[in-house]
Amino acid sequence: MTYLTVSIMVDTAESALARAALAAERGADMVEYRIDHFAQKADAAAITDLLKRSPLPCILTNRPVWEGGHYEGDETSRQNLLDAIDFAACPAAYLDMELVAYQKGLRPPKGARVILSSHDFQTRPADLLQRVHAMADAARCSVVKVAWRARSLRDNLEAFELLSSRVKPMIALCMDEAGLPSRVLARKFGAFLTFAGLDDGATTAPGQVGVETLKRLYRWDKLTESTRTYGVIGCPVGHSLSPHIMNAGFDAADHDGVYLPLLIPDDYVHFKATVGAWLDFAPLHFRGASVTIPHKQNLLRFVAESGGTIEPLAASIGAANTLTVGDDGALYASNTDYAAALDAVCDAMHIGRDDLADQRVGVIGAGGAARAIVAGFAHYGATIVVYNRTLDKATELAEQFNGQTGQVVAAPMANLSKSCCRILINCTPLGMHPNVDASPITDWPDKASADEGTVVFDTIYNPRQTKLLREASARGCVTISGIEMFIRQAAAQFEQWTKRAAPTEVFRRVIEERLTK
Ligand code: NAP
Repeated sequence: MTYLTVSIMVDTAESALARAALAAERGADMVEYRIDHFAQKADAAAITDLLKRSPLPCILTNRPVWEGGHYEGDETSRQNLLDAIDFAACPAAYLDMELVAYQKGLRPPKGARVILSSHDFQTRPADLLQRVHAMADAARCSVVKVAWRARSLRDNLEAFELLSSRVKPMIALCMDEAGLPSRVLARKFGAFLTFAGLDDGATTAPGQVGVETLKRLYRWDKLTESTRTYGVIGCPVGHSLSPHIMNAGFDAADHDGVYLPLLIPDDYVHFKATVGAWLDFAPLHFRGASVTIPHKQNLLRFVAESGGTIEPLAASIGAANTLTVGDDGALYASNTDYAAALDAVCDAMHIGRDDLADQRVGVIGAGGAARAIVAGFAHYGATIVVYNRTLDKATELAEQFNGQTGQVVAAPMANLSKSCCRILINCTPLGMHPNVDASPITDWPDKASADEGTVVFDTIYNPRQTKLLREASARGCVTISGIEMFIRQAAAQFEQWTKRAAPTEVFRRVIEERLTK
């Protein structure tokens, strides 16, 4: 069993016990009482009483300032306090003690089960392995605990390796945003525990998340040794909706998987090293990733260099957003953005993709999303006008896809007011949260009216109803929110990975819930 442990900074015994009861209610298996402050005002009897009354098995930790805690007393006072606590009366309690203190002579009282711990809040310590061995070899050590600040996602793999080769029960955690996988996957790798806050805002270490986030979002109770792992690779990635919808989807489809945010800095070197290491570590069962800004080109290059397969249209778009890893390790890079956009439009117009050959499409923007959308519509023979602030970029994009099947031309943004396109697609961030009063169309073309049956599609999904869509709707146009594209591109990824139909209604519900928060 891996204990889901809520760490509580103790102010008073009563408030700590109330929070421990709440932790139990929220599904924690254990609590840690951090008495760094409390120990400076309470006596041993009060601390013994706290442990005896704990509603859950517990850990007592009095972390000194020199190890990242708050206890300001000297080691003699720590020893005296420890010796006076009646651990024999609290059989469910563990005592956390720093390796350095133990090596310098701090002695655990008789009967206390000891977690020997070592922390580095700056980086991976150069002597990490020596520390781990020293703790494992210590006679009084029941559980080895090591925690360090992750330098990158790759440090999580070392935590998993340590857990896999443990000789005693072990806690191996990486701190900070990049260390999240070590916290979530502690259960998959058989750690003694993982730490969580009582909620996301009440955590005691960098990168810790709340107990309910671990249980509900990251499917803590479902994780097993064979759970497949997936994620969204990007930079930044912290606010992505994808973990919310994918994990809810895995739950609904009863798929043994978990989906994590995977932060990789903006550079091919980082991408290659991290994804390569992630793939090489077989016990991780890494089976796929959504790939977002700034790594969509890097994914194509990586899969090409690794001898994998690339979807032809993703190659001509020059960007992929999906990595699928077969059980045999085969890599496949694809682009689910263009298909999602095509299908969102076709569904709204009640037509098939082949009917797009008769359509005139105005694409606003010439960045990554526009590129995928132009490639997709051009592939099906549509006539496309690319409107962009920087005309050169629109021209470059148009020239690449013009004549392949459909016709593609470039135009300055000012020409939008004269557009006679039946389908208008916004691929700029104009109108995106928080700049919700912006819109790419300030001077509506006369033809954009219900009479012409114009379809206006905004790829932005936050907010759901952008200014562009509100105005289009008021003119009687058919409108499509970016949510439709977002759901469809995620559904295609889900289907590639799980070989099952995606629970799109679950995706929709989760997105609606998240966007109204
Ligand atoms: P990108 O590569 O950075 O391209 C942005 C485009 O917007 C460029 O053409 C840029 O013009 C134009 N632009 C930016 N700010 C502008 C401004 N103030 N005025 C006029 N034009 C401006 O971004 P992207 O990856 O294509 O993403 C664009 C949008 O697509 C985002 O808002 C995103 O929400 C949306 N998207 C949605 C989904 C979905 O699933 N719903 C998926 C992908 C993307 P210049 O060339 O002149 O710089």
